[in-house]
Amino acid sequence: MFKRVLIANRGEIALRIMRACRELGVEAVCVYSTADKDAPYLKMADRAICIGPGPAKESYLNISRIIAAAEIADVDAIHPGYGFLSERPDFSQACRDCKIEFIGPSPEAMQALGDKVDCKKTAKDNGVPVFPGSKDAVEDEEEAVRIAGEIGFPVIIKASAGGGGRGMKVCHNEATLRSMLRVASQEAQAAFGNGAVFIEKYLERARHVEVQMLGDKHGNAVYLWERDCSLQRRHQKVIEEAPAPGVDRERLKKVCESAAKMIRSVNYAGAATCEFLLDETGHFYMLEVNTRVQVEHPVTEMITGVDIVQMSIRIAAGEKIPFKQDDVRIHGHAIECRICAEDPAEGFRPSAGKITRWEPPGGPGVRLDTHVVPGYVVPPNYDSMVAKLIVHAPTREQALDRTARALREFQAGPIKTTVPLHQRLVENTDFRRGGVDIHYLERLLKQG
Ligand code: ADP
Repeated sequence: MFKRVLIANRGEIALRIMRACRELGVEAVCVYSTADKDAPYLKMADRAICIGPGPAKESYLNISRIIAAAEIADVDAIHPGYGFLSERPDFSQACRDCKIEFIGPSPEAMQALGDKVDCKKTAKDNGVPVFPGSKDAVEDEEEAVRIAGEIGFPVIIKASAGGGGRGMKVCHNEATLRSMLRVASQEAQAAFGNGAVFIEKYLERARHVEVQMLGDKHGNAVYLWERDCSLQRRHQKVIEEAPAPGVDRERLKKVCESAAKMIRSVNYAGAATCEFLLDETGHFYMLEVNTRVQVEHPVTEMITGVDIVQMSIRIAAGEKIPFKQDDVRIHGHAIECRICAEDPAEGFRPSAGKITRWEPPGGPGVRLDTHVVPGYVVPPNYDSMVAKLIVHAPTREQALDRTARALREFQAGPIKTTVPLHQRLVENTDFRRGGVDIHYLERLLKQG
């Protein structure tokens, strides 16, 4: 096992990784920007190193500063968490060049799965179904129009290097496709440093089902079953749950086995998530692979009892996955609500600032992953998520009731949070029935 690990992230995931390190007897080094200098979790680290000012480009996204911090602290490995540099093959490569273990896949595996165009090719080569669409990045307008003609509108334009639900454009006709193509490419270049875009068929009614995978350096790949993340706003997940309600387990097993094929094909080591859309007829299509730990990993931890963050560290240290596929059992149901510092009553306007009132929920089956304590100031620079409320219960219905109870206990102020939105959703009859589609929440919000 490693002696010392650097955590190249912030907020709740930095704390989550620190806790995993502690339980493994590994020292944790945190990096921080000046915007986070007073963050309380930094006091829990064995060492905290400032890597620059608030803007992420000058700190959490700055490879040379993070590597410099790693060398100063003399760490054996770096955990990237999610977001920031977690899916950048050049970061994984920089770690390799400096003889620091990257807790995640090799740059080669990351490229083959993390780039959306390459990932679709890998899927096709392995007989995993993908959406009809362009084989490669689309170079010009005429080509895009020709492909859209073949697959039929609506189509969606996506950035090959995209993530976080950004940079996607839905086009219902040729005129929009023509006008959006260049805009999409320019936006992708600005946001991800790569202007490559591709198009694929857009599904109106579908569910988002994803598979939690673990692969090790000894050729083993195990799936920890699925999560349903269909409740989304602006292509971003709002509530996640496991197992997926109302889909037969045989079909889900096929989805999971497709995910395992993807991971095996590139000798993947670490935690990964293969995302799929499931249509009304039960067909599934692979969307993309996220080559890192996901925000919503705790729901899988709750139903399987596997500590995914610890596993990612153990795998990087060369350990074998200590269980077999048949040993993975599902216990009960888990739901996660992403609590953000945003005002749902005001068009989800960001609500940064000092949190003076913070009364988190507790009790049986309630887990709160958060870096917030009373007096914490939410910096305006980063993601607005302040906590993840994860609830576990024997059945889905009980998990929903328990989530509603925990949300009622949850008091935060004077900043606004998305707690009221979650309260509304867990009481919503369509959601309670199970099986809402990916556009359900947007339709609901439009109704007011
Ligand atoms: P990102 O990497 O930015 O998160 P994804 O490819 O994972 O992008 O897609 C995020 C979400 O966007 C999906 O969960 C789904 O709601 C929507 N989406 C993506 N592709 C399609 C598609 N072809 N048809 C319908 N919705 C889609």
